[in-house]
Amino acid sequence: MPSSWVEIDLSALRHNFFQAKNRMSSKTRILGVVKSDAYGHGMIPVARELAACGAHFFAVSKFWEAAELHAVNLGLPIVVLLGVEPAEMVEAVAIGVRPVVFRMDHAKALSRVACSLNKQAIVHLKVDTGMGRLGVPCAEVESFLDELIRLPGIRIEGILSHFAVADESDKSYCELQLGRFRQVLQTAAARGLSVYGHIANSAGLLDLPHAHFQLVRPGIMLYGSPPSDELLQPADLRPVMHFKSTILHLKNVPEGQPIGYGRTYVTRRPSRIATVPVGYDDGYSRLLSNRGQVLVRGKRAPVVGRISMNMITVDVTHIPEAAEDDEVVLLGCQEKECITGEEIAALCGTISYEIFCSIGRNRYKTFLNAGASGQ
Ligand SMILES: *Cc1c(COP(=O)(O)O)cnc(C)c1O
Repeated sequence: MPSSWVEIDLSALRHNFFQAKNRMSSKTRILGVVKSDAYGHGMIPVARELAACGAHFFAVSKFWEAAELHAVNLGLPIVVLLGVEPAEMVEAVAIGVRPVVFRMDHAKALSRVACSLNKQAIVHLKVDTGMGRLGVPCAEVESFLDELIRLPGIRIEGILSHFAVADESDKSYCELQLGRFRQVLQTAAARGLSVYGHIANSAGLLDLPHAHFQLVRPGIMLYGSPPSDELLQPADLRPVMHFKSTILHLKNVPEGQPIGYGRTYVTRRPSRIATVPVGYDDGYSRLLSNRGQVLVRGKRAPVVGRISMNMITVDVTHIPEAAEDDEVVLLGCQEKECITGEEIAALCGTISYEIFCSIGRNRYKTFLNAGASGQ
């Protein structure tokens, strides 16, 4: 039995998937974003569940992730958001993953590889409509597209862009991006191309129904966290990741007892202090020192003192029934209380995405409530 573990509730993942689906027209398809080990939730079991729910595409960031996902044969196309490097192209084309393209030299290399393998390289063209990050600038799209269309062995399956501020309440910049994106899609249509247009992340899916086009790309909402607290149309989402441990040592200490490194906390009354074997190495950030809360017997208990590499200390004086070996929930729910990724993220000055990625790196992960996929 490990001293701490991550539980992934696949029934919550299904619930969140259908929350997305309920917001969409029946013609729009869902691309499940499972990059970075499905935001720490475990790429393969998550992808298997999403496929069983009716997702049509997956996206990962890097080719090696796509190769791992392809190897389990879920039968859905996999988009590689960062594109593929020349050294990876033979394998990528051979197994049919979909590189995102934004560089003509890479597109030409893909074309040569496709011709030499006597196969098609199926690509998604990335356009920068205002994020300023990856993608062909709008001003260059027309000539890029004309050149891409002429390359032998290349089939353009999708055209995508990405919102910079879809999670903010003011949607005016999204509308500017959308206007540019529509123009790009028209440019493609005028050349006889029929493609999946896609620009909506979770925030776009929830707040901008007119931005769904043929395909949407939810990530964070599938994992049960809203992309921000500014959404105009928030959804009913359920946390998927639960991070748990147990009380390793429980003891009474007198008033005036310093707790942990740096003596940053000193008891103001006789106290019961629980030591729990998780720390910053387990993804429980040191920024939670003297700030975080955990759940014991369904009640919140404050983290006191500094987070160590593999231990934290919790004040459970107000929970007299607490005992050694009791379950401690650091993220997720216990009885009626929940500690969300958003709550921890706010204490750490970051976003829930980063909290899930960090905690998701834990060695012990169990998958609960698998659905029709029968894992
Ligand atoms: C990560 C990512 C998404 C998913 O964004 P969420 O905010 O998690 O929904 C969508 N599209 C691209 C290009 C991404 O990199």
